[in-house]
Amino acid sequence: MGLQAHHHSHGGCGAGLVAAGAARVLYPASRAGERTRVPGSLEPSSLSLHSPGACGTEVDMDPQRSPLLEVKGNIELKRPRIKAPSRLPLSGSRLKRRPDQMEDGLEPEKKRTRGLGATTKITTSHPRVPSLTTVPQTQGQTTAQKVSKKTGPRCSTAIATGLKNQKPVPAVPVQKPGTSAVPPMAGGKKPSKRPAWDLKGQLCDLNAELKRCRERTQTLDQENQQLQDQLRDAQQQAKALGTERRTLEGHLAKVQAQAEQSQQELKNLRACVLELEERLSTQEGLVQELQKKQVELQEERRGLTSQLEEKERRLQTSEVALSSSRAEVASLWQETAAQAALLAEREERLHGLEMERRRLHNQLQELKGNIRVFCRVRPVLPGEPTPPPGLLLFPSGPGGPSDPPTRLSLSRSDERRGTLSGALAPPTRHDFSFDRVFPPGSGQDEVFEEIAMLVQSALDGYPVCIFAYGQTGSGKTFTMEGGPGGDPQLEGLIPRALRHLFSVAQELSGQGWTYSFVASYVEIYNETVRDLLATGTRKGQGGECEIRRAGPGSEELTVTNARYVPVSCEKEVEALLHLARQNRAVARTAQNERSSRSHSVFQLQISGEHSSRGLQCGASLSLVDLAGSERLDPGLALGPGERERLRETQAINSSLSTLGLVIMALSNKESHVPYRNSKLTYLLQNSLGGSAKMLMFVNISPLEENVSESLNSLRFASKVNQCVIGTAQANRK
Ligand code: ADP
Ligand code: MG
Repeated sequence: MGLQAHHHSHGGCGAGLVAAGAARVLYPASRAGERTRVPGSLEPSSLSLHSPGACGTEVDMDPQRSPLLEVKGNIELKRPRIKAPSRLPLSGSRLKRRPDQMEDGLEPEKKRTRGLGATTKITTSHPRVPSLTTVPQTQGQTTAQKVSKKTGPRCSTAIATGLKNQKPVPAVPVQKPGTSAVPPMAGGKKPSKRPAWDLKGQLCDLNAELKRCRERTQTLDQENQQLQDQLRDAQQQAKALGTERRTLEGHLAKVQAQAEQSQQELKNLRACVLELEERLSTQEGLVQELQKKQVELQEERRGLTSQLEEKERRLQTSEVALSSSRAEVASLWQETAAQAALLAEREERLHGLEMERRRLHNQLQELKGNIRVFCRVRPVLPGEPTPPPGLLLFPSGPGGPSDPPTRLSLSRSDERRGTLSGALAPPTRHDFSFDRVFPPGSGQDEVFEEIAMLVQSALDGYPVCIFAYGQTGSGKTFTMEGGPGGDPQLEGLIPRALRHLFSVAQELSGQGWTYSFVASYVEIYNETVRDLLATGTRKGQGGECEIRRAGPGSEELTVTNARYVPVSCEKEVEALLHLARQNRAVARTAQNERSSRSHSVFQLQISGEHSSRGLQCGASLSLVDLAGSERLDPGLALGPGERERLRETQAINSSLSTLGLVIMALSNKESHVPYRNSKLTYLLQNSLGGSAKMLMFVNISPLEENVSESLNSLRFASKVNQCVIGTAQANRK
């Protein structure tokens, strides 16, 4: 709703002040032939500043028309309007008339009718003055008020002044509309209707009329002049106002720009404020959080402080305790040093005692005999015929039944004697005495107890050799390896001996001794040596092995192609025994019952070292499961298979008798010992002579059918027993 400046190009006679919203238009005072209209404005009739000469709203003039005619026409045409001067003068139809249809302006008429009174004209124009003044007054006031709001009092005053100047314009008294305004004739005589013929009179009247009109015209001219002056003033004012308005608009634009800027700034500031408020709230949250944390930390600090105090108290106590402990430690150090000296002395003594023990142990073993013979009778197995009572008797020793049995009696009925006499001869009784006799009920643990001492000798550095002798099925393998099913109660000598060795070695490690063990397990069949620990492709193949000296000039013997496996625990030994059983089982399929006709030799090389004293000891423990000692029945027919078997048996018998001969030669201290006569004695030569300890188990079957073989075994064992100690005697009737 800004103010709009509107310049008229014609005549440059002023500027209209257009208030578009208020629909106020001030038209310039038009000159002849000029009509202006602002598009969109209201009808000029209600708003125009009229030229005084133009009665009505129209300011059109046509200088071409005859003035006289125009006067007449004017009078006639204007008359109806006189009756309603206060009404807004023009209807739309009148306004739309073309200029040529309109009444002429007054100016040409004025020139010709000067001096004549024209009352109608005067009366019509005068009522317009107040309307002219009224319109600007109200409008002007509004405008002025509006302008004053923006431009200040100076401007509004100017407008008011301009408007005020217009007010006193009417100089001619306003006549009541509708009344005939014909002034009285000169001389006060009221002109009366003249007769038609009185042309002179009529002329006279007309002249008077003309004169009045002229006077009136003059007055109107003056008035017009005044109004034009006023108009000029107004225009100037309008111009000034326009200028001022432009300035003001400029100002306004600036102010608006400033306002906008300020608005923008305000917006920015608001945003800033919002942001800051937000930050503030965040910070406040943070502060609260921090305060909470602070409280917590303070709490914690209090707790820690109290803890610290507690710790300090404890530390002080501890320090006191420490100082007393230090004193104690110092005294203990002294004590320890004294005890260390004592310990060293004791150790020295202990070592001396250990050496003495070894010497005495060996002496004891030698007194017991370097070759000992134990007899073991296996129980009758389920399904076997019960032997007649008194077949095998175990008489108690000189110490009574509490003594361990050492004697055995075997009764045998001699069939040949019986047939000769024709009557059944009484059975012959054969008595034998050994270092120990184990009747059928003896357990594996009982048997082992007796040989544990020999195992100790092996650790002390003496070679030990344990044999199991007897016919097939008498319990040799059971005694050496153990019973079936892995029952620990039925474990044989080999696993028990090794467990004992490992535990004693562990005990001796406390005295500074370090022991290591290497195991081998071979089989001698028909004078060939086979490795029972063979694995992989050699497993069960019976690859030929040779017994050789370990080096030139060395006493030590080794079996070529045989495995020597270091062992340090029972589990490893168990694994080796399992492997040997597998190898024998494979071989058994090739040759029936070969295992019973071959010697199995388990050997353990024992090495002990006392590094701090520079002592060493070494010995071998040999556990030999001999081949079955049974002889071939001479009455059997000799087929090709039997012949082979005969050769095999002869080889076995030869090696067993060689063993007997070797033992005898050793006991008789003969210069030549026939070790080389069999592979078995050759392999065992280092474990048989000198300080070596030998133990022979003679295994006996309890069955009647085996009596003959049992007697043979007992005789062989007795010979061995006799030859070494010389105390055992074969008691024969
Ligand atoms: P060998 O090796 O002398 O041919 P074995 O050791 O194979 O004889 O024994 C033959 C059978 O007798 C086996 O079944 C074995 O378990 C059993 N046997 C041997 N000795 C005993 C014993 N002391 N107690 C129980 N059974 C035994
Ligand atoms: Mg056997």
